Amino acid sequence: MENLKKNDSRIYNVLVKELRRQRETIELIASENIASRAVMEAQSSCLTNKYAEGYPGKRYYGGCEIVDIAEAVAIERAKKLFHSKFANVQPHSGAQANFAVQLALLNPGDTIMGLSLSHGGHLTHGSPYNISGKWFKIISYPVEEKTCLINYEEMEALALKHKPKLIISGGSAYSRIWDWERISEIAKKINAYHMADIAHYSGLIAAGVYPSSIDYADITTTTTHKTLRGPRGGLILTNDEELAKKINSAVFPGEQGGPLMHVIAAKAVAFYEALKPEFREYQKQVLVNAKKLAETLEKDNLKIVSGGTDSHVFLVDLRPLGVKGNNAQEALEKAGITLNKNGIPYDPEKPTITSGIRIGSPAVTTRGMKESEMIKIAGAIVKVLGNIDNERVISDVRANMLGLCKEFPIYEDLKY
Ligand SMILES: *Cc1c(COP(=O)(O)O)cnc(C)c1O
Repeated sequence: MENLKKNDSRIYNVLVKELRRQRETIELIASENIASRAVMEAQSSCLTNKYAEGYPGKRYYGGCEIVDIAEAVAIERAKKLFHSKFANVQPHSGAQANFAVQLALLNPGDTIMGLSLSHGGHLTHGSPYNISGKWFKIISYPVEEKTCLINYEEMEALALKHKPKLIISGGSAYSRIWDWERISEIAKKINAYHMADIAHYSGLIAAGVYPSSIDYADITTTTTHKTLRGPRGGLILTNDEELAKKINSAVFPGEQGGPLMHVIAAKAVAFYEALKPEFREYQKQVLVNAKKLAETLEKDNLKIVSGGTDSHVFLVDLRPLGVKGNNAQEALEKAGITLNKNGIPYDPEKPTITSGIRIGSPAVTTRGMKESEMIKIAGAIVKVLGNIDNERVISDVRANMLGLCKEFPIYEDLKY
């Protein structure tokens, strides 16, 4: 970082402070992780300089022979990792991946159906503030009020009634198993496409500890930076050659220009890491840790939405404590625990307040933490939530969490 330090002290200081924040806080944001140094090295490389519009072997610029290798390797590894026939590694983000699929399959005015945003869906599945909700007619399917689970019969009834052209499965705050096969059966009945958005689950799926959508959904999209633990980015997978062609044109030139070759190289590195046996062990521990966190919180009388988790994530209903999600997030942040407020299904509060928080285990598991640390972290959460205005309790918890972080250090070779 010598050059940055010399040339731009304001931004250098941001890096110094952010590294310190990441080292010294317990990260429970379910969509975050801690990428390896190898991933970060690829991402901060000279590949950032290269324009490579097009695809390997078919570029609009000269001098692409070498970066072509990075993209070809990324594609080959993505296909191997997810057992899929085709992969597009160019989407700049999960949102870009989802929009590319919509651009490839739909026309403005068509109907799409996705999980309601307030029940755990994602902005790109039809929020009125997102292009998906502005350009398409949106039908949202809910989770059941009592169980907070998806009711596939209700989903089927909605699909038969509204005949969407695309059904989107997957979400950002649904902790249970998705029945990808069942959703594909529903889609087939109405001649719709099924897109599975596994942005949250892809690391678990790659490791074989959560069911894969690849053999059921027409198209699968994901981010590469959540449980998959790679650089920030998107990925699109399919087994259908015709769909693969449409997707490639939708990504470029449909919605993007030059691909981020440095990020694509970093995706290749992350896929390589994910193909190793250690990654499967890591993801198994992610599941164990999430379950342990949820169980421990439940024993302390917190309510877990849907009663538990089958993945890396879960929602906590804070209403029994009389605490709001925004206040919980703020107090926990002061105590060295980062997570996000999150609406729970049928939440009576506004999205800026909420009755819940979302908790995820991927980042703490990357640090090497196991069940005994989950018990400590859950204890700390309960303590803070029960003493939300007590500065002394919060600073005691902060000191404990700092101690825990020091026991499980990250980026030790980074010297800034
Ligand atoms: C995070 C997420 C995305 C979007 O990813 P970005 O990289 O932030 O654009 C899309 N879909 C789901 C379900 C997600 O959770």
